Amino acid sequence: MPGNPLIDSTHDPELRSWVDSANGHPEFPVQNLPLCIFAQEGAGPRGGVAIGDQLLDLRALASSGLMSGNELALIETAAAPTLNSYCALTAADRVRLRKILSNLLSDLKSPLRSHTDSLFVALDAVSFEMPATVGDYSDFFAGIHHARNAGRMFRPDNPLLPNYWHVPIAYHGRASSIDVSGKGFPRPVGQTAAHGSTTPHFGPSKRVDFELELAIWIGGGNRTGEPIPIDKASDAIVGFGLLNDWSARDIQAWETQPLGPFLGKSFYSTVSPFLVTVEALAPFRRGMPSRGEGEPAPMAYLWDELDQQIGVFDCHLEVLISTEKMRAAGAEPVVLTEASGKDLVWTPAQMVAHHTVTGCNLRPGDLFGTGTVSSPGPKGHGSMLEMTEGGRVPLTLPNGEQRSFLEDGDEVIMRGWCEAEGYARIGLGEARGTVGPSLPYSD
Ligand code: MN
Repeated sequence: MPGNPLIDSTHDPELRSWVDSANGHPEFPVQNLPLCIFAQEGAGPRGGVAIGDQLLDLRALASSGLMSGNELALIETAAAPTLNSYCALTAADRVRLRKILSNLLSDLKSPLRSHTDSLFVALDAVSFEMPATVGDYSDFFAGIHHARNAGRMFRPDNPLLPNYWHVPIAYHGRASSIDVSGKGFPRPVGQTAAHGSTTPHFGPSKRVDFELELAIWIGGGNRTGEPIPIDKASDAIVGFGLLNDWSARDIQAWETQPLGPFLGKSFYSTVSPFLVTVEALAPFRRGMPSRGEGEPAPMAYLWDELDQQIGVFDCHLEVLISTEKMRAAGAEPVVLTEASGKDLVWTPAQMVAHHTVTGCNLRPGDLFGTGTVSSPGPKGHGSMLEMTEGGRVPLTLPNGEQRSFLEDGDEVIMRGWCEAEGYARIGLGEARGTVGPSLPYSD
């Protein structure tokens, strides 16, 4: 977009890679360069960069003797077994590393070309690990349509509470149970109570749901007692991915009185393996739409002109489901939801400024969730709670199966990508997870 100072030669749509599969790749062309942590049999976790259907092994590159000086130091930082040290880099160093990788993978005279066997591995031949060790995880509630849809179930005439336009609402989530895409979890067991009842029941949750969210990887680096002001907040955002904030609605409904989510959310969360850098997303930054009547403007500590102009990230998001029956019949996953990452009332920078305004420190590798992203219309629902009106109106899948909430064996697949006129499309990857049967229990 014209006037966006963050766009440089690495975003040039004409730029091609000598890794053939990258050219025209729907997710990982040379304009993306997302980072991940991967492992192979006999080789421990290390940093990698996706390029087409290949991964550049940064550990192998760091020890190849092909790099030196400051370039080697930056490659080594991203080659470590977690990306926490990468997250701790300054924004200027992150831009430097992106330029180095872009040159190495596009320049026809690149020294890597004669070492492809030792430096690259096929994307489908590796297993992924968590991109970073998450110290703290906070989940926001910035999806305005989700907030309205969910609020309407309890307050039909007044779905948004008065603080919604003022406070970037969030809860502190659980970091230990965040896992990388491709795994599963047992259906949580706990206390639930029928709507309006004061007598709880103990057993497996009957209302396991997904929440479609953007994952925001944080660089942080502020000390306790030192807020990050809004005009510096975007430097604390390192990259994005996809997040499924799995939720047990019945456990959540009974326990969230009067405090926030606890066991209804903490049993498991899934993130996509790639940290798509904030630099790669520069062409997909958009302005925050003006608020309407009855929608008060944010306070001064949350207001920055540049952030209002380019602080929103335009990503296409979708959710697919694959049931056990569908897989047995060889049927493809079915799209349940298509939503836009633009449909948030707070920018990631505003989340950072708000999170730290009290002096709370963020650390490199911390994770934010945006909150469930829903877009207008019946196909835009970011959770089953909204799709089925709280479970009252089951949805029917093409094979005739019905769902009010998720059943055992259901796999939920989240995908995301960014595209814009005049730029190469880039992908966020995938966040997959499967609901398993509950563990044995007795009540
Ligand atoms: Mn959530």
